[in-house]
Amino acid sequence: MTQPLHALVIAAHPDDAEVWIGGTILRLTAAGKRVGVLDCTRGELATRGDVVTRTRECEAASALLGLAWRGNLERPDAHLVADLELRADLARRICELRPALLFVPHARDLHPDHVAAGRAGREAWQLAGLARWAETQGLAAHRPERLYETMGHTPFEPSCVVDVSEVAERKRAVLEAYASQFSDAAGESDDGHQLARGPLLERIRARDREYGARIGVDFGEPLRHEGPLPAFDPLLP
Ligand SMILES: [Zn+2]
Repeated sequence: MTQPLHALVIAAHPDDAEVWIGGTILRLTAAGKRVGVLDCTRGELATRGDVVTRTRECEAASALLGLAWRGNLERPDAHLVADLELRADLARRICELRPALLFVPHARDLHPDHVAAGRAGREAWQLAGLARWAETQGLAAHRPERLYETMGHTPFEPSCVVDVSEVAERKRAVLEAYASQFSDAAGESDDGHQLARGPLLERIRARDREYGARIGVDFGEPLRHEGPLPAFDPLLP
């Protein structure tokens, strides 16, 4: 990897990035930006699908998103912990890929893997910018200019909402690439979670509509930024 990424999305499981900010990714790649996604696990313990199917689906979704890069840390699913090793692994990828924007999961979430990826991702953002730490890894320090948190299960008051109306149908197609997770045939989940029951795809669309309505458009994706965003400095340069 020689050419830096414009944006790197850190996620716990394959399909998290697509669900949470698939529209934002599509808008960036449509604008010619290089976007990468780093998943921490292969989601092998998910109620729906198996790891071979999910990996194949993930490759199809990555192609539809137009990703320049996709990686997986292959940590054990449902056992992700924001330990020193995960933090360093993520920081090394940030230094190697050199994104201007970093997206990490919001660290308040029902799923412990999302919490771990969010915490470690935020810490890695800081760590990656420390010159002497990077030197010990044989890398040049790099801290992305912007750090955004993406919304998983637990709602937050967004700092901004990305208008994804123009790519809403393309986002649907990306999610449909994960047939084991989102198709009607995937059926009812038996893990008893309120957000895992029923037609998942329609729930995701409903959420995008809800946040779109907050900014007066058809579909939107919420993001959180720590502290105020500077004026005259658009989210998607
Ligand atoms: Zn997940």
